[in-house]
Amino acid sequence: MEQFDFHKARERVKQAKRIAICSHTNPDGDAIGSSLGLYHALKTIHNGEIRILIPNDFPAFLKWLPAAEEIVICEESKQEAGEIILGADLIFCLDFNDISRTEQCSEALQKTGAEKILIDHHPNPKQQFDLLYSTTSTSSTAELVYGFIKSFGLPSMLNSESAQSIYTGIMTDTGSFSYLCNYESTYLAVADLIKAGVDAEQLHRLVYDTYSADRLRLLGFCLSERLKILKEYHTAYIYLYQKDLERFNYQVGDIEGVVNYPLSIEEIHFALLFREQDGKVRISMRSKGSFPVNDFARKHFIGGGHKNAAGADSLLSLDKSLEKFEQLLPQYKMELSV
Ligand code: AMP
Repeated sequence: MEQFDFHKARERVKQAKRIAICSHTNPDGDAIGSSLGLYHALKTIHNGEIRILIPNDFPAFLKWLPAAEEIVICEESKQEAGEIILGADLIFCLDFNDISRTEQCSEALQKTGAEKILIDHHPNPKQQFDLLYSTTSTSSTAELVYGFIKSFGLPSMLNSESAQSIYTGIMTDTGSFSYLCNYESTYLAVADLIKAGVDAEQLHRLVYDTYSADRLRLLGFCLSERLKILKEYHTAYIYLYQKDLERFNYQVGDIEGVVNYPLSIEEIHFALLFREQDGKVRISMRSKGSFPVNDFARKHFIGGGHKNAAGADSLLSLDKSLEKFEQLLPQYKMELSV
């Protein structure tokens, strides 16, 4: 990674009159947590406007986060979102490495002359940003945001609202500290966040113990009716038709994390979740160990991500996508066996 110029980034914050913070489509805990974490910290030192934007809605289990209600959703408020982006003189781009990942916000982000600071932990960021704080050697974007906030040297910036948001980002992106969690820095940050007011037990409950009955039943259905295990390839996948989602009154976020369940089966190294969404098939991919799902997503579908967690779209029907996927597996037999 090129050295991030913290000083320059802080100067940009001081000079800016209107700051926007933008994250990726289908925002997850890290996208929302890092955005709000930065927002609450910057609010303590900046008198101008600071707004948060996301392309589409985010899961209900994140709506309790302080100031979550102030987030502007581009899909629902296109004009307002466009005005915020085009009116900003500084834009923080969080948790994505390519502007195309902001879908509904991407047109305005491409058009704006505002300076863009990327803070992200995905590999190979595009050359679309003025300053890059990008490394894959971290738990999450939220942890990088924590580092950026600390670089100001102002303890009051890490208030309880900011700390709760950052902690939520780290907790969700590490699956409650079960992957991407071998960094000493993560635990040092967590200790500091607890000192700043985080109640880790309470935040865990707020995120993971607020299922609706429908969501829990959908999980049961996925595991009992829609899980296919391909033992020979150390692979298992779950697939969901639109009608399945409707049957369980699907709400945004209801299948968050479901893709991880097949990895809890012994000897399963590659897990996927295929689901019909907005006329395409959305695929989530996870792996344990060395199999790079981001390469697989990029090569065979329209996607990318991290080595062990990636996402993609398929423009084929769900049945055809599954057929294509199963036909690809034999060429990966060796790689998947370790
Ligand atoms: P998901 O399965 O949607 O939770 O995504 C897993 C990871 O892959 C996240 O870090 C996403 O940011 C990333 N990702 C998802 N979809 C894409 C895509 N189409 N292109 C690049 N990265 C993606």
